[in-house]
Amino acid sequence: MGTFKAVVVTKGETGTTAALSTFDENDLMDGDVTVRVSHSTLNYKDGLALTGKAPVIRRFPMIPGIDFAGVVETSSHADFKPGDAVILNGWGTGETHLGAFAEKTRVKGDWLVPLPAGLSSAEAMAVGTAGYTAMLCVMALERHGIRPDRGPVVVTGAAGGVGSVATALLAKLGYHVIASTGRPQEASYLTALGAAEIIDRAELSGPAKPLAKERWAGGVDSVGSHTLANVLAMTRYGGAVAACGLAQGMDLPTTVAPFILRGVSLLGVDSVMAPKTLRLEAWSRLARDLDREKLATITSTIPLESVIEAGQAIIEGRIRGRVVVTID
Ligand code: NDP
Repeated sequence: MGTFKAVVVTKGETGTTAALSTFDENDLMDGDVTVRVSHSTLNYKDGLALTGKAPVIRRFPMIPGIDFAGVVETSSHADFKPGDAVILNGWGTGETHLGAFAEKTRVKGDWLVPLPAGLSSAEAMAVGTAGYTAMLCVMALERHGIRPDRGPVVVTGAAGGVGSVATALLAKLGYHVIASTGRPQEASYLTALGAAEIIDRAELSGPAKPLAKERWAGGVDSVGSHTLANVLAMTRYGGAVAACGLAQGMDLPTTVAPFILRGVSLLGVDSVMAPKTLRLEAWSRLARDLDREKLATITSTIPLESVIEAGQAIIEGRIRGRVVVTID
């Protein structure tokens, strides 16, 4: 037993503070698998945890970080043995259970997924929860019968993590992707990912009418609030929108008009507690359907030492695509 390097969030009278420090292995939480973490990643939720902007952390001190890739060090779980390469997304790590911005972590083996064949640890973290959620959204649309021949699909928050991966995935699968962004300077980035059209997010961010001109058959929305209300109001008859995020807000100021007059469906997507079968399907689809060159173009890499600063940047909407955090 010893100590290891970790980002630790503590709570004081004036709020929370995040700092790089050393953590005692004896203070790791219960679990049947101990993992040496090689890579993590930065998601919007990690930004919320690092800055304290929203109360995603439920116990203090907390090591934030909701995703990791690493190698099993010790295990009493039947499915995992020392040396196995594994990944984890969600399950409350970085919120209720000590998380990923650390050299070491101990978790329930039931939460782990083997590193998908064909993906490196760094690539799996370039995908991360944001990318795996984008895949869950695509699968939700597919289950609802929204195929490329049904018409265009809109992706909101397109230059963000979920949006970038959703754009790349949908384009590869043959959809006509309309990317909505507030960053016109990222138009060529989005076109390179496969977006067929780019729209200014200002078109969607104000109060929505109950119904508006039909523009798309489906959508992947990581923004919520007025944006999701507008996306719904502009969805074609019988279409569907997969909703996974709240970058604009948690509210949904809409009416029932899109649902009862156009038969539009709102598909809720959660990655945190998603059952293992769905996770395994999503990861095998990602290994198959996500273009590795596009994944590389959306990815930047930072060391653990920079993750606190990057957490502030993601909350301010300054991060493009996905950020891998190298730990070892
Ligand atoms: P990012 O910060 O990488 O992307 C969010 C994007 O949303 C930004 O890049 C920006 O895109 C857009 N945006 C930001 N602020 C606003 C605003 N005020 N109005 C309109 N658009 C805005 O975050 P992630 O992609 O990691 O996560 C996106 C959302 O999805 C978050 O709310 C996150 O909590 C949620 N999420 C939910 C999951 C689930 O299980 N349901 C899992 C993963 C993420 P642009 O610059 O292109 O306009």
